[in-house]
Amino acid sequence: MIKVQFLGTSGSVPTETRGMPSVYLEYRGHRMLFDCGEATQRQMRIAKIPFMKLDQIFISHFHADHCLGLGGLIQTMDLFKRQKKLEIYGPKGIHDVIEKVITTGHFILEGFDLEINEVKPKGVKQIYGDKDYSIKCAQIDHTVPCLGYSFEERDKRKFLKKKALQLGVPEGVLFSRLQAGESVKVRGKMVKPDAVLGKAVKGRKVTYVSDSRPCAAGVELAKGSDVLIHEATFSHELQESAIAGKHSTAKEAAKVAKEAGVKRLFLTHISQRYKNAKGLEGEAMKVFPKAKVAEDFDVVTV
Ligand SMILES: [Zn+2]
Ligand SMILES: [Zn+2]
Repeated sequence: MIKVQFLGTSGSVPTETRGMPSVYLEYRGHRMLFDCGEATQRQMRIAKIPFMKLDQIFISHFHADHCLGLGGLIQTMDLFKRQKKLEIYGPKGIHDVIEKVITTGHFILEGFDLEINEVKPKGVKQIYGDKDYSIKCAQIDHTVPCLGYSFEERDKRKFLKKKALQLGVPEGVLFSRLQAGESVKVRGKMVKPDAVLGKAVKGRKVTYVSDSRPCAAGVELAKGSDVLIHEATFSHELQESAIAGKHSTAKEAAKVAKEAGVKRLFLTHISQRYKNAKGLEGEAMKVFPKAKVAEDFDVVTV
């Protein structure tokens, strides 16, 4: 199961009910954040997320609403004696921003390593991969360098136990090696993984696009996602404002979802002017019925 939790769903400034942008994702013991706006660490404590166990943080861009939470979070981790390395990914300028963050005040980071990765993708590019999942990113269309990210679970193949036993493979370590894609030798005969693995089942996918105008790169990145999290700062009546600030309207976000053929759409980065965001939701649903405005602390499972 992939668990996604919204920690902040406002844009630019926090409101009584919405914090600054951040989305938490957890899968098979891997824990990551997409954006880390101001006070994200407090949102994590309220949500009872073990923030010391975070592995990776992916920052979309360096407008303050998306990254000001990094300083406090890193300082708290150090105060709590974190030792494990933390990976941070972001667009051009990330080294400079992190340098500023960790030299603010009297703070000196001592306890753990930060692995800082500056990402400059051309098209959709994989920036991380292990046996469980990969992360891809693409340059999206905002006023400053800005990245969209997608989390993709690896395709899975079911282990056909009966078949393996028929082929004389004894239960135990040889099973694991076959499952890992290795050929094994049984009584002088080679058994290939293909003989004991079923058809590939497509891995699940979650995509995060904020902040951006609707754009081809966003559509490409989101293709086939189970969940698309897309910014919808404005309603379509204010499309001019959206164009001026390089943001999206709810209707435009819905069009991206439709074009990308995603299963579900969650709208985030909601302007403070919408005390009640049901209007944005309705606007999106006319184009893409499986649309919902995300609220802080909403949990989505895939
Ligand atoms: Zn923003
Ligand atoms: Zn921005």
